[in-house]
Amino acid sequence: MSPTRVKCPTCQRDLDWQSAPFRPFCSERCRLIDLGAWLSEQRAIPGESAPAPENPVTEERGPKGET
Ligand SMILES: [Zn+2]
Repeated sequence: MSPTRVKCPTCQRDLDWQSAPFRPFCSERCRLIDLGAWLSEQRAIPGESAPAPENPVTEERGPKGET
């Protein structure tokens, strides 16, 4: 069986999937770098959750002509 070769998402280095302790990263360092980048991206997005737009109360009238 040939070892599964994957590329580290951070540094694009080839590594063996089976033997990589920090897979899919080649090292803990790359994992932390990627995690940090991900977290900073999350922080870039305003934390406030946008309130759902309120639907204006529309007057629903029944079918016209119904008595
Ligand atoms: Zn790496």
